[in-house]
Amino acid sequence: ASGYTLLRDPHFNKGLAFTEKERDSHYLRGLLPPTVIPQETQVKKMIQHIRQYQVPLQKYMAMMDLQERNERLFYKLLIDHVEELLPVVYTPTVGEACQKYGTIFMRPQGLYISLNEKGKILEVLRNWPQKNIQVIVVTDGERILGLGDLGCQGMGIPVGKLSLYTALGGVRPSACLPITIDVGTNNEKLLNDELYIGLKQRRATGQEYAELVHEFMSAVKQTYGEKVLIQFEDFANHNAFDLLEKYRSTHLVFNDDIQGTASVVLAGLVASLKLVGGKLADHRFLFLGAGEAGTGIAELIALEISKQTNLPLEDARKNIWLVDSKGLIVSSRKESLQHFKKPWAHEHEPVKKLVDAVNQIKPTVLIGTSGQGQTFTKEVIEAMSSINEKPIILSLSNPTSQSECTAEQAYTWSQGRAIFASGSPFPPVEYGGKVFVPGQSNNAYIFPGFGLGLIMSGTIRVHDDLLLAASEALAAEVSQENYDKGLIFPPFTNIRKISAQIAAKVAAKAYELGLATRLPQPKNLVEFAESCMYTPSYRSYR
Ligand code: NAP
Ligand code: MN
Repeated sequence: ASGYTLLRDPHFNKGLAFTEKERDSHYLRGLLPPTVIPQETQVKKMIQHIRQYQVPLQKYMAMMDLQERNERLFYKLLIDHVEELLPVVYTPTVGEACQKYGTIFMRPQGLYISLNEKGKILEVLRNWPQKNIQVIVVTDGERILGLGDLGCQGMGIPVGKLSLYTALGGVRPSACLPITIDVGTNNEKLLNDELYIGLKQRRATGQEYAELVHEFMSAVKQTYGEKVLIQFEDFANHNAFDLLEKYRSTHLVFNDDIQGTASVVLAGLVASLKLVGGKLADHRFLFLGAGEAGTGIAELIALEISKQTNLPLEDARKNIWLVDSKGLIVSSRKESLQHFKKPWAHEHEPVKKLVDAVNQIKPTVLIGTSGQGQTFTKEVIEAMSSINEKPIILSLSNPTSQSECTAEQAYTWSQGRAIFASGSPFPPVEYGGKVFVPGQSNNAYIFPGFGLGLIMSGTIRVHDDLLLAASEALAAEVSQENYDKGLIFPPFTNIRKISAQIAAKVAAKAYELGLATRLPQPKNLVEFAESCMYTPSYRSYR
């Protein structure tokens, strides 16, 4: 290939890092200014470049631009400055990017499968240049973060998630495939927007929807085999639970909103026991929001409690209560409830308001998964604080604007007693002469390591015990120093090491359950995980 093409191929381009020798042997002489600088210097330059932007969306665009120009530099930058850049390439900034995808869209970054491609999905997959795909993240754009239906513009989510698969979990970029299934949108604003990039029609539902998804699932298996991981992302809950149920026995599928969230939050709860004492089974849980995240977390907590105590699952569920948009979920509502809420309809009189539910249920743990900002009011936090010495309060809704309360509100209203974590990041808070560092219950702690564990062991199905294994591995990474600051999650700086630990624990469990096909089982799974991980240092070209 000519030097000119080399410079324009993001997989190979190194910019000014091409050495003198490489410039000679690859027809690059004169195409670059004479200086040669190492990748470390390029990273320094790029982070300064990113920092000069005040507006998060501009930082996001500069990152996407880099990804399309020099992939290895993009990943090196992201890994070296992970804490700073995670909120740029993922939540909260990615939410704004999706909302404005029509105007900032420059080059397609994944596959679009719309109703127009019905009957041709195999061909569409063949058009993708990479053949050895290991992870697909797919969305239909109906519930993007807490922002609702963004249709085809949801593509920002699979793209962002997969860059975290690579940066945090070490899955090769060429093995990652972002996909958006476009069956229309019910977002009026987008339907009337001339810059909207998706199908301008209302969402297909029922059989039409199911057929397109089924063709997709079959085509993926036919093209990439049994071991490709399909991660469902940001589907609305009326499809998410059904898709997971339908495909979990025939495909390697994982829903991050249900299962990944559950695994991360369970890890945070297990860690928080170090600060508040007791066993999981001694606690009482109340959720605001009974959708994918809420019921997913609730179910995994119940599963863990039932394993620890030998209680039947139905009994383990009894200490867990959920509130949805209509109030506390109670048995008198059972008939009209969606199926995923039914297990949580306990005996109790109806309660409308959250604060009343708190006062009546007396939870030790309050978890927000409603997608509704400012719903943990002063009254609610004060009620939690009068019931508990150290109330555990998790405001998980994303992006920041939808958070149930801010870190500052949680610490102030609880007079510094809350154990707090949130879905989107908040800066440290000073209260009463002490600095509190809020943890971020970010799904990025689990899914990259979880996926790596599945891939490296050739696991063919996801089992709930693998989620528990991942939780346990993450909780074990919280250090005393973290606890001293009130943190129930470890910092992101060591995330690749953490991912390797998670991958190893997940793989070990998969071998134990007979779900892993890569034989013989590697002796040291942590070392094996680390050896499987992609690193973005430049390769030398001869
Ligand atoms: P979902 O399936 O749509 O569920 C939302 C739930 O909230 C539904 O049960 C809904 O009630 C309830 N709700 C809505 N408005 C409410 C209100 N005013 N009062 C009480 N309940 C209300 O969405 P999801 O997938 O669970 O996600 C919810 C939020 O969690 C999103 O903001 C998402 O970004 C966030 N999340 C965070 C993390 C994380 O921190 N790691 C992970 C996943 C998701 P009905 O059922 O009655 O409609
Ligand atoms: Mn999601």
